[in-house]
Amino acid sequence: MSIIPHVIAGRKTEGVGSRRADVFNPATGVVARHVVLGAKEDLEAAVTAAKAVFPKWAETPPLTRARILFRVRDMLEARADEFAAIITAEHGKILSDAKGEITRGLEVVEFATGAPELLKGEFTEQVGRGIDAHTMRQPLGVVAGITPFNFPVMVPLWMAPMAIATGNCFILKPSERDPSAAVLLADVFKEAGLPDGVFQVVQGDKDMVNAILVHPDIQAVSFVGSTPIAKHVYATGTAHGKRVQALGGAKNHAIVMPDCDLDKTIDALIGAAYGSAGERCMAISVAVAVGPVADSLVAGLADKVRALRIGEGTNNDNEMGPLVTGQHLARVSGLVASGAEQGATVVVDGRDHAVHGHEKGFFIGGTLFDNVTADMTIYREEIFGPVLCVMRAPDFETALRLVNDSPFGNGAAIFTRDGDTARAFTHRVKAGMVGVNVPIPVPMAFHSFGGWNDSLFGDHHMHGPEGVRFFTRMKAVTTRWPDGVRAGAEFVMPTHG
Ligand code: NAD
Repeated sequence: MSIIPHVIAGRKTEGVGSRRADVFNPATGVVARHVVLGAKEDLEAAVTAAKAVFPKWAETPPLTRARILFRVRDMLEARADEFAAIITAEHGKILSDAKGEITRGLEVVEFATGAPELLKGEFTEQVGRGIDAHTMRQPLGVVAGITPFNFPVMVPLWMAPMAIATGNCFILKPSERDPSAAVLLADVFKEAGLPDGVFQVVQGDKDMVNAILVHPDIQAVSFVGSTPIAKHVYATGTAHGKRVQALGGAKNHAIVMPDCDLDKTIDALIGAAYGSAGERCMAISVAVAVGPVADSLVAGLADKVRALRIGEGTNNDNEMGPLVTGQHLARVSGLVASGAEQGATVVVDGRDHAVHGHEKGFFIGGTLFDNVTADMTIYREEIFGPVLCVMRAPDFETALRLVNDSPFGNGAAIFTRDGDTARAFTHRVKAGMVGVNVPIPVPMAFHSFGGWNDSLFGDHHMHGPEGVRFFTRMKAVTTRWPDGVRAGAEFVMPTHG
């Protein structure tokens, strides 16, 4: 059985750590590969290689860095089928959805090819008599990215192109549940001409994460995962002097107003709740039906949930694949059971859904709950599975209060035809990414991605202009030449006059 390696200093290696983890094919439930779980020494080797190449990479003109990223872009596009196949094989999502993830990652590479423009500083002539000032942004050094299982290509590409374009050396620690795509990414970066050590992969679990967080030569950590781990990464990384952006979990609400286009809203919610089996941080997991729309909304959703085409991700006719692991399947099933026990109305129960010929796969059907209340476990916890909770609110104000009382604040959407209500929502909702008749408002690469509250710890959102700021530090230079120098020593605080 094949072993998924690290990529350190341009070489694939099993390293010195002796632990291994199973990597499943979720559609069959069979262990397909093993991944090495690295030890501290493996991280040390990667950091040493990164430190060695950093001065040369940081001195490389941004245009030269950008040209490599142009090649990366083309190669990712040319090899999209290969990437999609490995995503589907280890994550389980439908191939066409895997392709969509690659496209969204590619957009960040495209944005990062603008490095010469993105790194431009500002210049002010005559900040004082005969004195000019300018600012510049410089790389941090060795930086790391720690990523979740649900987007094994897109999330690493939220980070790596930005870090590399701005002159840093980037070490990726992918999820141990679907780690192969990271190795393929390393192949692409190498073939595109990136010097060895600028993009590296260390495989591992929490021990590797914790080694990264305390390593004195890693300057910054970009993290995406669940809220408890994001909190831990932020607290530990910053306590060790690092710059940290840690994106956490979510519970995204959609408010459905009585004046919405109901058919289109139902379609939007079905795709957003059940696409990728609900394993998206921007999935809609709560629909808040306002006033009289609730009964027809639930009836329309129920018909479509029962009709979901569920099966292996390699068949593009399917709409939903399996969950990522048997352990995750057991957790999601347990949460569905708790919803029934705590009094939610089970409109559709996905627990007994079998996929013919894939009885051992990690499949579950779509579940729809109605009359969910804020005290229930299915509302309070992120389920991260194909489960949609419908709540009922008498009016817009009550619905908005519910959304804003959630500890999470990743995405939120409203479905309405009324401009005043939409504006009130976008103005007052406490979430980082907001949709108006758009269920999954993931910003494009040239805007930045990030939530509020328990969905993001740190100061910077991911990629886009915020990504440039996260991976660089600013320097302000004030200059004068002999003509501008006044005679004699100056003892008072310099002012512009
Ligand atoms: P996870 O938190 O279990 O794992 C994320 C990373 O942290 C992995 O690399 C993993 O190896 C590591 N990790 C796991 N447990 C750890 C521990 N105890 N100590 C240190 N490191 C640990 O998340 P996941 O299950 O892989 O991914 C799903 C989660 O990610 C969901 O909560 C989802 O909402 C979130 N997510 C958020 C965003 C966002 O942009 N906010 C995007 C994608 C996914």
